Amino acid sequence: MSNRRSFIKGGVLGAIGATIIPKLISTKTSKTNPNSQKGFPMVISTWEHGMAANVAAMKVLRNGGKAIDAVENGVKIPEADPESMSVGLGGLPDREGKVTLDACIMDETGNCGSVSFLQHIKHPISVARKIMDETPHVMLAGEGALKFALEKGFPKEDLLTEKAEKRWKEWLKESEYKPIINVENHDTIGLLALDKNGDISGACTTSGLSWKMHGRVGDSPVIGAGMFVDNEVGGCCATGVGEAVLKTLGSFLIVELMRQGASPQEACEEGIARIVKNQNYKDMQIGYLAINKKGEHGAYAVHPWFNYALHQGGENRMIDAFSYLT
Ligand code: ASP
Repeated sequence: MSNRRSFIKGGVLGAIGATIIPKLISTKTSKTNPNSQKGFPMVISTWEHGMAANVAAMKVLRNGGKAIDAVENGVKIPEADPESMSVGLGGLPDREGKVTLDACIMDETGNCGSVSFLQHIKHPISVARKIMDETPHVMLAGEGALKFALEKGFPKEDLLTEKAEKRWKEWLKESEYKPIINVENHDTIGLLALDKNGDISGACTTSGLSWKMHGRVGDSPVIGAGMFVDNEVGGCCATGVGEAVLKTLGSFLIVELMRQGASPQEACEEGIARIVKNQNYKDMQIGYLAINKKGEHGAYAVHPWFNYALHQGGENRMIDAFSYLT
């Protein structure tokens, strides 16, 4: 057994220093993203609300802080912003009018924490962090997650804002549910940070798809689906129709592809290709962001209107992602 293991480790591949490049199914793969550069500290996050989140995360990194603290502080900004209608306070509710939240966080050592189907707590990311730091578990759900949060001193709040309630009542008139994602009913924030020591962490937080079935949990709290970090390789986060990401375990897939030699851009394109292969992609938006240890990034989506915020080299800016459909 040990002979076999040492052969695999130091054998043919070790001798020639090669990596195994898997056969990719994506046909349009570009090697690099023209907006990608090297360098850290850096922060990258999904959608327009990523701009403010990046500023908060970068503040932590500039003060010499760790990536894990940066990602938590970053995503707390849209969580607390009632205008961010797919995250935390002000998130659009499920079909019963309940705001239910999903979030996860992961650090450079592979530690992670997650909450799903959590109600009444504005900062699910901080509950996920406490689960990671203070319990032997990774995920708490529903009532148990709420109980834990209250015990830890998180305030119980009504997260359904007037604006979100109005939108829900409008929707109730027709009550038509299609998990089609458009510019108005998505906006999970996924955020990845690389600190000055070159360590990577990630966070992801959402109220999920609006008008979802009560009890529905998406990709965002599932480690490896909505977000994944491997500090030897890089990190990835996802936004869009969570069911498609869950079916392909997208973030884990993309990080593993980078481990095997793919660039962040190639890996994101392959992640989308796996969705496009088997699913009715024309009605769904899914977007991936990935970074590697050098601070290079990739971004790719099914439809053209996925954008992201990149804070690197002293500049924080919005970039339109490339997409499978144009
Ligand atoms: N991925 C989220 C979910 O399916 C939705 C989103 O990104 O807006 O819950």
